[in-house]
Amino acid sequence: MFIDGDDSVHHRPKNSRYGRIPLLFSPLTATGSAINVDDLPLDNSFAGLPPAFYTRLMPTPLPAPYFVAASARAAALAGLDPALLEQDDFVATFTGNHVPARAKPLAAVYSGHQFGVWAGQLGDGRAILLGQLAGPHGPMELQLKGAGKTPYSRMGDGRAVLRSSIREFLCSEAMAALGIPTTRALVVTGSDQGILRETVESAAVVTRMAPSFVRFGSFEHWSSRDKPEELRILADYVIATFYPELAGAPNPYQALLKEVTRRTAHMIAHWQAVGFMHGVMNTDNMSILGLTLDYGPFGFMDAFDSEHICNHTDQQGRYSYANQPQVGHWNCYALAQALLPLIGSVEEAEEALAVYQPAFAGKIDELLRAKLGLATAQDDDAQLFDAMFSLMHANHADFTLFFRKLGTLRLDAPDQDAPLRDMFRRDDFDAWAVRYRARLRLENRVDSERKLAMDKVNPKYVLRNYLAQAAIEKAQDKDFSEVARLLAVLEHPFDEQPHNDRYCALPPDWASHLAVSCSS
Ligand code: AMP
Ligand code: MG
Repeated sequence: MFIDGDDSVHHRPKNSRYGRIPLLFSPLTATGSAINVDDLPLDNSFAGLPPAFYTRLMPTPLPAPYFVAASARAAALAGLDPALLEQDDFVATFTGNHVPARAKPLAAVYSGHQFGVWAGQLGDGRAILLGQLAGPHGPMELQLKGAGKTPYSRMGDGRAVLRSSIREFLCSEAMAALGIPTTRALVVTGSDQGILRETVESAAVVTRMAPSFVRFGSFEHWSSRDKPEELRILADYVIATFYPELAGAPNPYQALLKEVTRRTAHMIAHWQAVGFMHGVMNTDNMSILGLTLDYGPFGFMDAFDSEHICNHTDQQGRYSYANQPQVGHWNCYALAQALLPLIGSVEEAEEALAVYQPAFAGKIDELLRAKLGLATAQDDDAQLFDAMFSLMHANHADFTLFFRKLGTLRLDAPDQDAPLRDMFRRDDFDAWAVRYRARLRLENRVDSERKLAMDKVNPKYVLRNYLAQAAIEKAQDKDFSEVARLLAVLEHPFDEQPHNDRYCALPPDWASHLAVSCSS
């Protein structure tokens, strides 16, 4: 049985520039009695699956590891006191040099479609799951990325470099602070061990956290091998552990597909609304929990170009900004195809997939209304949004600054539009501003109230490439202070933070040459 795939990924979305488709808990603490890492109450629900799903193995140590950065917010989600993360035994553990007594380290197997082409078996080629800790909102798995080779490393060295580990760390935490579903990053450790990429770089390990790292590709793996029993075991595990509310549905596998499709559509709507581009939306990088997963050559939009491709390796632009919503849909098709033997019929699978478009459209409209300070919904809002994105595209307006400044617009004072108007050709802006003002008159919010609401959803600070690059270059000289400072700024993306104004500046000239690729 095959579902008619959505082959429209390379087609531009019509008439649109943004890709529309038609503590009650007490943390483990270092205070009082110091906690030894071997006392961590690690469990590992994934290890309860049959051995075919993973390989049990030890991480490979790195020489003389050191602490680079940690996220206190992520630590709280794992029920950990962040102070612990700088302790020697924790640094050793989160580099893979020590395995805590109760850990059951493993690498999981999965397959996937890469750039639209079936890639066969992949798997955790450099990530090792230590186990999970009980946090205040439920269990959080801890995964060391860059902790050595596994049977799934193929030609890779099992390592991650400091540059990409810092990027993943900062972006995971920045996305969470923006309210976007994402895996988290607990800690980064480094080692002077040289790692060969385009040049020799230093090694690092980023410890990621999520309730689960199961991917669309984890399901594709078993269906492609015609292993219905393993497919069922995995689906039952995911439903029982992460979607227990679906277990009683008439067709729980269809219900799973529907919910994952809905979450994926929502996640991508969030990306579009902040100008985030993932860069490698392969099905092995799509989380079964609808979380942004596997930060590699991602980017936040600077000057708006709806066709922008953030990944230097993606020459066709499959994963351009405007294509993301359709690619998300395509990926859900791939998941549906994999789940089909469990779901039972193409009709039921298609019914589940049909939630994608309305879920995406509903969420992006909701997010854009909020970004424009509109408390009510009007029939022709979508046309206003389209005109705005066309205006931004034609004038290369800076994505983040435009929305932030839009909040300063005063309904009855067009003569004071200069800060906004200066981002555009005057006539272009004036024409759109007339429409926007007419739309605002249908609301009954005063300027100050609207600005307050808009500032809560239009971030002032996002992880622009040049900011990450500046922090990385210092870190490569062993000064990790800028990583910590940038994290602190990005943890409050909507706050004014006047003393941190330099972090919301336009990219400097040197940054226009920055290229990010799959090399990490
Ligand atoms: P990615 O495109 O980064 O999501 O990775 C695709 C696949 O390549 C996954 O199976 C990764 O585990 C694997 N991989 C990427 N980089 C390395 C590396 N340096 N060593 C081993 N495996 C890797
Ligand atoms: Mg990946």
